[in-house]
Amino acid sequence: PSAATANIGVVGLAVMGSNLARNLASREGNTVAIFNRSPEKTDALVAEHPEANFVATKSYAEFAAALQKPRAALIMVQAGKGTDAVIDELVKVFEPGDIIVDGGNALFTDTIRREAAVRATGINFVGAGISGGEEGALNGPSIMPGGSDESWVTLGPILKSIAAIAEGEPCVTHVGHDGAGHFVKMIHNGIEYADMQLIAEAYDLIRRGTGKTPAEIADIFAEWNRGELESYLIEITAEVLRQVDAETGKPLVDVILDQAGSKGTGVWTVQTALDLGIPVSGIAEAVFARSLSSKPLQRAAAGNLPGPEVHPVADADAFIDDVRQALYASKIVAYSQGFDAIVAGAEQYGWNIQKGEIAKIWRGGCIIRASFLNRITESYADDPGLVSLITAPFFRGVVTRTHDAWRRVVAAAAVSGIPAPAFSSSLSYYDGLRAERLPAALVQGQRDFFGAHTYQRVDKEGTFHTLWSGDR
Ligand code: NAP
Repeated sequence: PSAATANIGVVGLAVMGSNLARNLASREGNTVAIFNRSPEKTDALVAEHPEANFVATKSYAEFAAALQKPRAALIMVQAGKGTDAVIDELVKVFEPGDIIVDGGNALFTDTIRREAAVRATGINFVGAGISGGEEGALNGPSIMPGGSDESWVTLGPILKSIAAIAEGEPCVTHVGHDGAGHFVKMIHNGIEYADMQLIAEAYDLIRRGTGKTPAEIADIFAEWNRGELESYLIEITAEVLRQVDAETGKPLVDVILDQAGSKGTGVWTVQTALDLGIPVSGIAEAVFARSLSSKPLQRAAAGNLPGPEVHPVADADAFIDDVRQALYASKIVAYSQGFDAIVAGAEQYGWNIQKGEIAKIWRGGCIIRASFLNRITESYADDPGLVSLITAPFFRGVVTRTHDAWRRVVAAAAVSGIPAPAFSSSLSYYDGLRAERLPAALVQGQRDFFGAHTYQRVDKEGTFHTLWSGDR
């Protein structure tokens, strides 16, 4: 095709790219040019979806020629080297003012690097986090774009046309410049890790504490999904627990190997938070729990170390409701910690991120969509300078009424020897936050003792060092 007829292009036609291309093509006013390194994928997509009226192209030059100016291209290829390879090719055929969007799961520091390099050519580069997996890509994902204000003018309407809709609003906002979008997507995934781990701990505690079957626990989750915990992850948990293995007739969850994989965004969140000095302990415990599930480490000790016998709880219904409350409180900690990391990242990298808008675009399309996200938006609207989400009146109210149950659950887990790392670390974090004095005073004393690191005093200004008797 020689005429520039397409207003958007997609490079990379694996699962995500082909679904996003179909989503784009299905929206009024869009004509979509497509390109894939191996042309078979392009041919297959065109053949399977004639209704999309794709403009199929077989070279980067043809792809560029098919796009109206300013050109806009969405890259959906293997993150890392694949992304760099495609950018190198697009930069050769695009012109200043054109827009390259990377919708893959890039590390935000790579996006900052790529944005600077591409900007030097006059072309805009936008790193956009896209959540919602395969299904979201096709029917409406949550989209977290970074990049320049100039590119948002062209891109905004296109992305709004394909994003999920929550309460009438598209789940996309211009997050901030350069790597801001991929940063926020990374934090989204970190929160997702914590939420999944908390749900898994809730399931384990109920199963071992009450002896209920996976199908019975599925009913419990389905019921929770009608209350304040309503969310996509709770909803799918009920479905996973209800699933019966066709081969053995057992609950499928009992047949699945207890080894949780990962693709790295949880690890990135924790590494980034460590660099920023922000405790994201719930997320970290979730990442570590997946590591512990890796067999070589666990198998060595499985069944081989002493511990208590698990006795059934006295009042199953009361215990289950305690677990529900502990889950809600711990979940609030996970989101609160995630937003703390966003605030710190925004400060470190100079992004103007509207926290309330982030909570809004997570209400639909993405994995951590949950009805309580509206409460986060409201909390930041009431107090934009809010230091920790958990101190906002609504969330403070939730922990006020749930923290007794939270403590009972963590205590029961410890006494019964059921691992609940995310529940217990979230509670410890909460108690650390609310403590009027921390034993950090002792740590600082130790540091001054062995390293003359000095300390400050509660009663006067200045920096002090004690001549400890141990000084040599
Ligand atoms: P993928 O398996 O990550 O990547 C395959 C695609 O990358 C193919 O189109 C392949 O082209 C292309 N590719 C690889 N190296 C290339 C190179 N050097 N030059 C040109 N093209 C190259 O695909 P995916 O699962 O659809 O994911 C795409 C992106 O979306 C990834 O960054 C992923 O992390 C992100 N993502 C995925 C999900 C999900 O649920 N899967 C969700 C959100 C985000 P060929 O056909 O020629 O090999």
